[in-house]
Amino acid sequence: MKKVEHIGIAVKDFAISIPLFENLLNVPCYKQETVESENVNTAFFKLGETKIELLQSTNSDGVIAKFIEKKGEGIHHLAFDTDNILAEVERLKNAGFTLLNETPKEGADNKLVCFLHPKSTNGVLIELCQEKK
Ligand code: ZN
Repeated sequence: MKKVEHIGIAVKDFAISIPLFENLLNVPCYKQETVESENVNTAFFKLGETKIELLQSTNSDGVIAKFIEKKGEGIHHLAFDTDNILAEVERLKNAGFTLLNETPKEGADNKLVCFLHPKSTNGVLIELCQEKK
């Protein structure tokens, strides 16, 4: 793994949270994108090498809506950049971690992504990502 690529934050309402994070970070949101397969809208901010990804559910029973129902708004996942996501998946599987998806799927921001189950990572949802070429 190379670096923290982004930190995912679950929010209820982009109309409130995008201006909030623009004010907080003092940078504009550079991209908004919907990931249909995950029922989620994303909004990105860039600070140096690291990004902040805001996540808003597109419907009331999406994963982000359920997360907010259970835990409230807040940090949802940490994403680590990889050069070879398949090799990382293999390494982590062999090390005893539980993958939520072993086959990379299309994520936001031109990425292939895999998630690790938080029960095997001290309660933190971990995303592996690799830039699509
Ligand atoms: Zn993410």
